[in-house]
Amino acid sequence: MANTLKNCSECGRVFVDTGIGVCRDCYEKQQDQMQEISSYVRDNPHSTVKQICEALNVKEKLVMRMIREGRFVTDGVQLEYPCESCGAPITSGRFCEKCNGELAKQMQQTQKKMVAKAPAPAAKKGSGMYSRDMGKKLS
Ligand SMILES: [Zn+2]
Ligand SMILES: [Zn+2]
Repeated sequence: MANTLKNCSECGRVFVDTGIGVCRDCYEKQQDQMQEISSYVRDNPHSTVKQICEALNVKEKLVMRMIREGRFVTDGVQLEYPCESCGAPITSGRFCEKCNGELAKQMQQTQKKMVAKAPAPAAKKGSGMYSRDMGKKLS
């Protein structure tokens, strides 16, 4: 019963959001469009996102969502879409090979910095050693 009123991200109308993010009308429209996109891509496996949008008059956002959900992979289609960082055409993931390499490098550098910053574990002194000595003396 945690349904909340929201503005549809497509048409702006207020609706009860069940986790889809768009109103019922827009949801149905999107389902139709997704089917159109799917069949278009099957017929034109090497089309780009831009070509699909122009051919079917759909939003790039919708095509991108389908790519992220991996809908075209199951059809055996390699669709080209822009790298989220530099815009180079890619067919899988979010970034091109170059940007992936750059990101990996950056990640490594941040990790190194974090390790260098972390304080060295304090050496344990005191009670443990002391009681062991006491034990020796007693026996
Ligand atoms: Zn709507
Ligand atoms: Zn890139």
